[in-house]
Amino acid sequence: MPELPEVETMVRDVTPLLSGRRFESARLSHRDVLDGVTGPALVRGLTGARVVGLARRAKNAVILTDRRRLVIQPGMTGAMFVKRRLTADDARYGVLQVRLDDGRTFVYHDVRRLGTIRWLDPAGWQRFSDRIGPEPLDAAFTPEVLRAALARSRAAVKKVIMDQKHLAGVGNIYANEALFLAGIDPSKEARRVSADQAGLLHRHLVTILADAVRAHGTTIRDYRTGTGEPGNFQGELQVYDREGQPCRRCGAPLAGTHGIDARITVFCYRCQR
Ligand SMILES: [Zn+2]
Repeated sequence: MPELPEVETMVRDVTPLLSGRRFESARLSHRDVLDGVTGPALVRGLTGARVVGLARRAKNAVILTDRRRLVIQPGMTGAMFVKRRLTADDARYGVLQVRLDDGRTFVYHDVRRLGTIRWLDPAGWQRFSDRIGPEPLDAAFTPEVLRAALARSRAAVKKVIMDQKHLAGVGNIYANEALFLAGIDPSKEARRVSADQAGLLHRHLVTILADAVRAHGTTIRDYRTGTGEPGNFQGELQVYDREGQPCRRCGAPLAGTHGIDARITVFCYRCQR
């Protein structure tokens, strides 16, 4: 699923093309991506709304209009584009197509439809955002904030940093990577992570996310930027997608397990304690 760097990239790419634009009409092909809004209400709400700004919160793209916020969490295969001409693929997989007042079309494209679309009023947005933890690239996310979250939990440290109520936007790729860089065993009970290790983990989370944003995200399979390109960070990955390959630090073969959460965790037995 696109994580913080990938969603940030999508938002940055479509921002100049969407800011200030008015939505002339909207078409929704499937309702199974909607949460908390019906298809007709979404289409009615979008039609005539003007975009006043874009942002990202956790793994969500947030399009603020003069009515409500269109909040899109791209699923595994979710992507967003603004195009002058749609392709046959866009017509087929464009779950939401919104015609702009300059003749272009904003498309939320989602082959497997694992994404979610919300249409939130200010109170709904507040509730939604309040359930999510601090943004790792904001100054409010300090080593103390991370330390406190870890100290409260008996869950595996990997689960805690991927839990959106503790930290916004970190998913499997960057959790695996940050834990490797910090030399922490991903299965370690969070409250047993030392203060020094938590400090290191904080530093590596922040730097890897910032570096991945600069590289326009990581493309393993499906992810595309808002201009349709793959990201550039996949070549920088130390452990994710490298199970069985040699650790770049010590040469030992990297181990993989699904035992921590349901997802693949890749780590080095020697380097991560
Ligand atoms: Zn190693």
